[in-house]
Amino acid sequence: MELLVIIYFILVFKHGAGMDHRGNTIRYMKHLGKYLIVVSLFLTVMGVCLRFPCSCLSLEKDARSFQTLRFKMVRQQIASRGISKEKVLQAMRDVPRHLFVPEKSRRSAYGDFPLAIGYGQTISQPYIVALMTELLTPKQEDRALEIGTGSGYQAAVLSRIVKKVFTMEIIPPLGRAAQERLKQGGYDNITVKVGDGYYGWEEHAPFDCIIVTAASDHIPPPLIQQLKNGGKMVIPVGHPFQVQSLMLVEKSERGRIRTKNILAVRFVPFRRKWK
Ligand code: SAH
Repeated sequence: MELLVIIYFILVFKHGAGMDHRGNTIRYMKHLGKYLIVVSLFLTVMGVCLRFPCSCLSLEKDARSFQTLRFKMVRQQIASRGISKEKVLQAMRDVPRHLFVPEKSRRSAYGDFPLAIGYGQTISQPYIVALMTELLTPKQEDRALEIGTGSGYQAAVLSRIVKKVFTMEIIPPLGRAAQERLKQGGYDNITVKVGDGYYGWEEHAPFDCIIVTAASDHIPPPLIQQLKNGGKMVIPVGHPFQVQSLMLVEKSERGRIRTKNILAVRFVPFRRKWK
């Protein structure tokens, strides 16, 4: 707008200067033109200066309204369904889920359902994220492995509780986007790797907890091997595109494996390659 005003007065100034041959009028027009240019420039600078804090204010307002939705999500969808560990509830309150979903879905980020994140994959329903986290009974000094980074949300939630999270994603663009998002969000205790999580991450094994967020028809043996004695794994087991069973796998201090069915769930398939 201000720019248009400037252009208009430049034109008037130039045009006006050439219209009259009497010296006084030309000088008067030139001074008026210069004066108006200075005023317009001043208004432009003021406009930019005023607009910047306004956009910051609206971002802050957005952040506050998303926080209200998040707190409500924790009360109505998570605590009310029996998730009781305060550190899990706090992690779910802390992590801004709306920043892990595509921009067009931000307003639905705190709904009681999974959401598409591209490449046919989904970010799990908030309750399932909280339940899987609680089942691991994560501790502050733990090192965790996640298979299926997706958006990076589950890794971010876990990272608020444990010391270090290693997470693997088989779809390269998803893995790279999550890595960038987590870096931007300051989650510096998470390391992302693109690759097939079936083999785990030998270099950093053993892990205190392992979380798998894609459904496999069996528990990958390398993951059982890379679980510490006394450690826990949660994994959806069953056929793709059918109802699966969320299983808790516990490895005793002596290395014995015990499995427990927790809940019927529906996850995207565990895949062995992409494309
Ligand atoms: N935890 C994610 C959601 C995961 S969706 C989040 O919080 O957003 C499941 C993810 O598992 C998908 O991104 C899928 O590409 C990935 N995946 C499937 N098979 C995999 C494998 N073998 N290794 C690593 N990642 C895999």
